[in-house]
Amino acid sequence: MGMMTSQEYKESLKSLKPVVYHFGKQLKSIFDDPVIEPHINAAAETYNIAFLPETEKLATAVSHLTGEKINRYTHIHQNVDDLIKKVKMLRVLGQRTGTCFQRCVGLDGLNALYTTTFEMDKKLDTNYHKKFLEYLKYIQNKDLMVAGSMTDPKGDRSKRPSEQVDKDLFLHVVEKKDDGIIVRGAKMHQTGIVNSHEILVMPTQALQKGDEEFAVSFAIPVDTKGVIHIFGRQSNDLRKVENGEIDVGNKKYGIVGGEALTVFDNVFIPWERVFMCGEVDFASMLVYLFATYHRQNYGGCKTGLSDVLIGATLLAAEYNGVNTASHIKDKLAEMIHLTETLYSASVACSAEGYCLSSGAYFPDPLLANVSKHNITRFIYEIFRISHDIAGGYIATMPSEKDLCCDEIKGYIEKYLKGVENVPAEFRIRVGRLIENMTGGTAQVEAMHGAGSPQAQRIMYLRESNLKLKKKLAKIIAGIEEK
Ligand code: SF4
Ligand code: FE
Repeated sequence: MGMMTSQEYKESLKSLKPVVYHFGKQLKSIFDDPVIEPHINAAAETYNIAFLPETEKLATAVSHLTGEKINRYTHIHQNVDDLIKKVKMLRVLGQRTGTCFQRCVGLDGLNALYTTTFEMDKKLDTNYHKKFLEYLKYIQNKDLMVAGSMTDPKGDRSKRPSEQVDKDLFLHVVEKKDDGIIVRGAKMHQTGIVNSHEILVMPTQALQKGDEEFAVSFAIPVDTKGVIHIFGRQSNDLRKVENGEIDVGNKKYGIVGGEALTVFDNVFIPWERVFMCGEVDFASMLVYLFATYHRQNYGGCKTGLSDVLIGATLLAAEYNGVNTASHIKDKLAEMIHLTETLYSASVACSAEGYCLSSGAYFPDPLLANVSKHNITRFIYEIFRISHDIAGGYIATMPSEKDLCCDEIKGYIEKYLKGVENVPAEFRIRVGRLIENMTGGTAQVEAMHGAGSPQAQRIMYLRESNLKLKKKLAKIIAGIEEK
C-alpha cells in the first residue's frame, strides 16, 4: 500500500476504535462528533495536497529506506531542501485550512527518534535503531498519521520525576516482561491524537540517574487497550454542537488542533515497538532534537494562518468602507511585515540546517528557537492589529440564529451592514472567522505549542556563543587582559 488520499485516510480511521471521552460521555465514534470532525478534515488536507499537481512536489518525498514515493509527513529529512520544503508545505496547509493540521508533531517525533536511536545503538550497542527503522517503514508504507506524545503532566515542577509523590505524573515503566513493558501515566495537550493512527511516546525532559523508569519511548496504535483520550474544550466549542455554520468561524477545519489528555492506564507495549527503556542519558538528546524540529515549524504553519487572517481583516475593512484609509493601509502593511518576519526565521533555520551523524538533516537550533519565540510575540500583535482594523462589532455580533428569526432578521440585515453592496451576512461571516481565529484557545496554542517562551530563552543562552561575542567586543574595544 502506498500514499493514502484524504478519503482513504478518513476511511482508515474507521477501523480504529479509540476510547474517547468528550463532554462527560464516551463517544461511539469520533465521526459522530461535530467538535472532532473539523480536525479530521484539517488532517485530511495533509493527505490531499500530496495528490494536487500544484503542491505534490512539496508534500511528497522519496523514502531513503525504500526508494518509494511517500507523503512528506513520514519522511526523514535528507538535505536542506527537505527542511525548506517542510516549512513551505506547512505554510500552504495553513493557507488552505486556516488552522492546525496536527500531523507535524508525529513527523518531528519520527525525525528526532531516528537520530536518537542511531546514537544509542552506536554508543550502547542496543538494537533500537534497527527496530525503529522497521517501524518507520511500516509508517511510510501505510502512510499513517502519528501523534507525537511528549508533554507529561509534571505535577510539582520543582521536583524531578522520581521525586514526585505520585510517580504517574510522569509516564513511566511499571513492569518489564519477556514480551514487552507495561507503562502508566499520561500525556497532555495531545494534538490530533484522536484522529491519528499511532501514538509515538517520548520523554518530556532531560533525565538523570535515578529517573530510569521515566526514560521510555515507544509506539502503539491509538486504540491500544488501556489508552483513554479525554478531548479538551475549546473556545466556542458549543457553537459546533448547535449545528450552525457562521458562528463557528471555520466550520470545515476548526480553530485549533483538537487537543486531548491521553491516559495510559497500565498499557502493554511489545518490545519491538520500544525505542528507549532506561537510557536516561539519551532523554535530553531526544527532547532537544524534537523541540528543535517542532520549533522550526511555527513560522510555516502560523504564517499560513496569518495569510488567511490578513485576507479576512482586509475584507472586514472593505465591508466597513475603510480599506482606503491610510492608517488602515499602514496597519495591513505591519501585519504583512510581521508575517514575513515569522516566515523568514523558519526558512533561515532550515537553510542553515546540517547533517547529523545519522545522516538525517537538522535545522539550526538557535534560529529554530527564534522562529518559535517570534510567534509568541508577533502572532499576538497580528491578532491585535486585526481586531483594531476590523472594529468592535467582532465582539458584539448577534447569533446566526437571529439571522433566521423572522421577527428580527430585518433589523440585523439593516443595522449590521457596512457598505451598500455587501450583505450583513458577509460582514458577520468574516467577523466570526476573525473572532474564532484570534480567540482564547488559538492564542494560548501560539504561546505554548512547541514549548513555552522560557524554554526558547534557555536555548538562546545555551546555543549562542557568548564567549565569542565577548571576545569580539574585547578586540574592538582594545581590551587586552594579561
Ligand atoms: Fe503543525 Fe503548526 Fe499544528 Fe504544530 S501548531 S501541529 S506545527 S500545524
Ligand atoms: Fe502545536
